[in-house]
Amino acid sequence: MIKVAKFGGSSVADAEQFKKVHAIVKADPERTYVVVSASGKRSSSDNKITDLLLLVNAHIQYGVDCSGLLATIEQRYLDIALELGLKFPVGEEFARFAENIKSYSPDFIVSRGEWFTAQLMAEYLDMPFVDSADVVMFHHDGTIDMERTQIRLREAIIHTGGSFVLPGFYGSTVDGQIKLFKRGGGDITGAILARCIDAGIYENWTDVSGFLAADPRIVDKPRGIHRITFEEMRELSYMGASVLQEEAIFPVREVNIPIQIKNTNAPDEFGTIIRETANEHAREHLITGIAGKKDFVGIYVQRAHMSNEVGRVRRALSILERYGVSVEHIPTGVDSFSIVVNGADVKDSIYSIVADIQRDLEPDTINVLPGLALISVVGRNMSRRVGTSGQIFGALGEAGINIRMITQSSQEISIIVGVQNEDFEKAIRVIYERFGDAVVVRER
Ligand code: ASP
Repeated sequence: MIKVAKFGGSSVADAEQFKKVHAIVKADPERTYVVVSASGKRSSSDNKITDLLLLVNAHIQYGVDCSGLLATIEQRYLDIALELGLKFPVGEEFARFAENIKSYSPDFIVSRGEWFTAQLMAEYLDMPFVDSADVVMFHHDGTIDMERTQIRLREAIIHTGGSFVLPGFYGSTVDGQIKLFKRGGGDITGAILARCIDAGIYENWTDVSGFLAADPRIVDKPRGIHRITFEEMRELSYMGASVLQEEAIFPVREVNIPIQIKNTNAPDEFGTIIRETANEHAREHLITGIAGKKDFVGIYVQRAHMSNEVGRVRRALSILERYGVSVEHIPTGVDSFSIVVNGADVKDSIYSIVADIQRDLEPDTINVLPGLALISVVGRNMSRRVGTSGQIFGALGEAGINIRMITQSSQEISIIVGVQNEDFEKAIRVIYERFGDAVVVRER
């Protein structure tokens, strides 16, 4: 089985981390393709190389001298090379980069973070370096040209004898310019590589042992999630439990390649496997995980006999669309509905939105209800199992927590409960304590 191993910024932050990567890659001969991010933070007060390079761009844009900043970046790579005894000419390469800095595009400048990291890693692992500029190809519209990328990657495999180190985060446009992915995009490079070479698994090495069933800042030592489906992961990530760049799942999901999140600092821990279906065990947890976010806003609209009228919800939604606001939920009553949106999205526009709804829909009542927290209880095993939602609501009721909104996803894999911001942490703890460890026994 071919394995693609992608190492995030903290996994390649310094020589010590490089050594861990070396041990991990060499421990498994199937780990033949390695993707790296730019060196990240060595401690919480440190800076990511990518951020420093973005700052270089800002200096150039405003005509401020950036030689000190460039020296700081260079030093990070010099330290790694020196400590690991690498021959790669960091000083020479960096001098050339610094000298021509003004002639480069902003994307090119930022991409050098992964480029230098990958050059050093390739030498340290004794594997060939392949430049993403030569193999990761974008279409004119900025999406990935999977066909051309696959052809180029297959050529690279033949050329290198089937093993290489690839810098993440960037590729080439149709006219040969360097183009970056979104932030965290090294995860996307790894996913594209895994898909194009038909890998058996895409390992994503980071600084946590995968997904946890709840936020450890709220719940004391929540259990790790060993297996999760792509759909469940989308639900949890959307609600804030994010480990992986969201877009990284699409290339591998389509061809059903599993992703395994692993911890570079604790390689023996299992981590989390994300795949299309995950029902492999007779005993599984009822709930896969709980995640949530605060500060949603409900816009409540009521008008007598609205149930007999057609098009009012649509008109309200068009107003939000005009303001570019994405809608989270629309709980409805007979003659009323609420539109739940992310508070940050309407921070500056809420009064204009309300005025527009007032004018266009002529409601009897319109209220803005801030301070709503949404909690998503996610679990593939909840589907078609009678009583789960009843138990969740019962537990919250017993704890004296008022539920302000309820929805269930159509696949029944998540139940979303809206509570007051003040009840958010308590509600998560109550649900976790009651269901976090509950298991279901499935018939085989
Ligand atoms: N270095 C890039 C970033 O910090 C990409 C990545 O780490 O995946 O966003």
